[in-house]
Amino acid sequence: MTLDGQRRILDDGAVAVRGDRIAAVDTTAALTGQPAGRTIDATGRLVLPGLVSAHCHNVQALARALGLDVGVDLWTYERIYAYEALLTEEDAYWATLLSCAEMIRTGTTCHADPGGYAMDGVGRALTECGARGIFAWAGMDEPPKGYEPPPGFPGLRTTEETLAANEGLVKRWHQTANDRVRVSYGLRIEPNVSDDLFQGVKACAERDATLVQFHCLLLGLSELVKERVGMSTVQWMAGLGVLGPNWLLAHMSDASDSDVVIVKMHDAKVAHNPGAVSPGKFPEMLERGVTVGLGCDSTAANSGLDMFRAISQVATVHQEMRLEPDLLPPEKALEMATIDGARALGWEGEIGSLQPGKRADLIVVNPHGANRTPTQASSIVANLVSAGEGGDVESTIVDGRILMENRRFTTIDVEKVLAESRRIAERVVTKLPYQETLRPRWPVL
Ligand SMILES: [Zn+2]
Repeated sequence: MTLDGQRRILDDGAVAVRGDRIAAVDTTAALTGQPAGRTIDATGRLVLPGLVSAHCHNVQALARALGLDVGVDLWTYERIYAYEALLTEEDAYWATLLSCAEMIRTGTTCHADPGGYAMDGVGRALTECGARGIFAWAGMDEPPKGYEPPPGFPGLRTTEETLAANEGLVKRWHQTANDRVRVSYGLRIEPNVSDDLFQGVKACAERDATLVQFHCLLLGLSELVKERVGMSTVQWMAGLGVLGPNWLLAHMSDASDSDVVIVKMHDAKVAHNPGAVSPGKFPEMLERGVTVGLGCDSTAANSGLDMFRAISQVATVHQEMRLEPDLLPPEKALEMATIDGARALGWEGEIGSLQPGKRADLIVVNPHGANRTPTQASSIVANLVSAGEGGDVESTIVDGRILMENRRFTTIDVEKVLAESRRIAERVVTKLPYQETLRPRWPVL
């Protein structure tokens, strides 16, 4: 399943990889007989481009399920900021390995991480485990009244300090590891950004030719901006002249029709997270030709980084809410998780489809389980999309390097990562100020 310009699906297809790139995509017969250092037999399997998660918080991996029962303002300011304030670089390193292990085992080869404040740990983990990713410093320089982060929170700094922290990450990590690891600029959430920070981030990102990741028009937070500046966050950004094609706007669940028009006019990109606050004008964005990628957000928000679940959710949630059966066809859902996601991250020249010259990021999926059988030629995409889980991914390859083969990890010591994750989570959770909310609702005997 190539996801190339013609969306070709090759029955009995084959992919040749040379070094970190795809050398050829053709029928098995056409490629048989060419010298190969290694052949992977994927007979009866689906081979497709690695999935691209357009929004994933690596450092929150150890906060799994800590905020499932509260609204977005409490989730952010009380639950997650308190958790992130306790993280060391070492904790972020292990959290990222845990997050990448989950993504590699479910077929995600590239992700956009909007960031936190222990991001050297994230860079180190990505470099080591072989996953592809782009991450940021999640900048904020303004605490609106009543929405101050908790004491000790490392993210609230002056405008200059915020820009310097992000620039430091760019210098240390951007386009390292064979350009597998990139750094973007980042802004945390809309109520905590000043005009100066918007302008500064725009200038830096243009100078360094990179992306800006920003949580934008998030239901539950967007109202605070409206109260403050008298317009929507997108209108405010357009008025400041900062919005552009290198902006990746996550969530956008509160976008109005006019916001959609503005986003399209500036060719800004959107990261839709159907598992975390999913309603919104996403069909309208697609209709207008806005680039919309898919993300899983955070294990603290929806408890999973399996992109197959996000693909299945996006293919069902909008049409069920609006009672329009073909509103978002399965083919579109798969594009959002591959080629559109790559475009959203500014990476479409290198990844997102199986085409000669692109990076060899691909996955092998077993379509013969009870959840995907029977599959006909006419239902091949629909079955892949509706199964809703990535447990059938057998092998995951990034940059021509096998990260998982027949469900065995080659770069991550999963048992050690799980043990370290449990150890860190135990330490962190006992220090969280909201202990009473962490009691089980049912008696645990
Ligand atoms: Zn997020």
